Amino acid sequence: MEKAGIDLVFHGETEWNMPVFLDNFSKKKPLHDIPGVSHLRNGAVTKNKEAEQISDLDTIPFPAYHLIDMAKYADSIDGWLSRYGDVIRNDPKSGDLIGRIKGKKTYISIVTSRGCTHRCFFCYRHVRGVRRHSVGYVIEHIKHLQKTYSTDGFQFCDELFNSDPAWVFDLCKAIEKEKLDIFYLIGGARIDKVDENMLRSLKRTGCIEINYGQESGSDTVLKEYRKGVTARKNKEITLLTSKEVGLHCPIQLVIGAPGETSDTIKETIGFLKDLDATQASLNYLIPLPETPSWQYAQDKKLIPDTEAYLDLVAEEGGSPIVNLTGADRRVWKSWGPLIWKELQLNAKKKSRPGAYFIYFLFYNLVYAVETLIPAHHRRIMRKCVRSILRRD
Ligand code: SF4
Repeated sequence: MEKAGIDLVFHGETEWNMPVFLDNFSKKKPLHDIPGVSHLRNGAVTKNKEAEQISDLDTIPFPAYHLIDMAKYADSIDGWLSRYGDVIRNDPKSGDLIGRIKGKKTYISIVTSRGCTHRCFFCYRHVRGVRRHSVGYVIEHIKHLQKTYSTDGFQFCDELFNSDPAWVFDLCKAIEKEKLDIFYLIGGARIDKVDENMLRSLKRTGCIEINYGQESGSDTVLKEYRKGVTARKNKEITLLTSKEVGLHCPIQLVIGAPGETSDTIKETIGFLKDLDATQASLNYLIPLPETPSWQYAQDKKLIPDTEAYLDLVAEEGGSPIVNLTGADRRVWKSWGPLIWKELQLNAKKKSRPGAYFIYFLFYNLVYAVETLIPAHHRRIMRKCVRSILRRD
């Protein structure tokens, strides 16, 4: 706070202490007795005692949507289609999703729960336990947004949507009973908490996408991440979701666990091949404060300058920033481009089989440039190419 020019921060939930703060602040009353707040005072940070978590989430009113420009908060389903349309159309089981969203325009993010049952190595968890809204609250929230803002769809952006399978089935039943004409995406779910029955209920009631966070195709790495699932389960449920039930199921990978090696990367590439994947969200592990990975990086003294590091993370999060593995730096950096190349080649094998050999040469050339030429030289090369292309 001293260096970032920030006067005050709230830790965790702010629903009840924010009004107290605003009242104190407007009346120039002291801030030192508001729980859950840290503030800068005479050049030093004062951290007040922790705020209590809200035990009943249903006591929180719906967000004051009328105070914001809703157009800025709504996502366009056309944007979603332009990213994933080809994958979905080419899949016999998920092609019907296109019909489901026909004529629909926007979706908006809402939360149905807070917290997660796990504590993965890289995950920042600022609330304890899991609390969720009642099904009735969620249905009223959906109806309110439909009626007032003509919202067509929803993204449930919980950390863990399906911690309680019985609740998920109750929600599906309520959507059917109320005959809600909606589509929805699930932002965070655990693989070990779904089965075919749940997935079919979700699809029947409007679900078009479910995000699990597979993270890796290697059991060694999954253990390091404390995910509590195996690579086999990852594969089984991802295939069930996408190829059997026909929901869009993005693959999300985090590479660079302390035990990651070129062999575990090969296992992840094999996993992607088994899934016949052409896309994946691919990020390097970034230790963030208050996560187990941060503690690991501190113990190993891998982050000598916290401020500079956090600045870099803000700019380039997801890129290779700090090497937690024992691998050589160049090898570590090559893993991302290698996985990316394999995905591109699989996509081209499907869409342009006749020209596959050309793409094979092209993507191997890109991979060689990415891994053999240092990043700052690549940036200079890119600038030169751009300036040449801009000339008449
Ligand atoms: S990564 Fe997902 S499963 Fe793991 S702690 Fe975070 S929210 Fe929970």
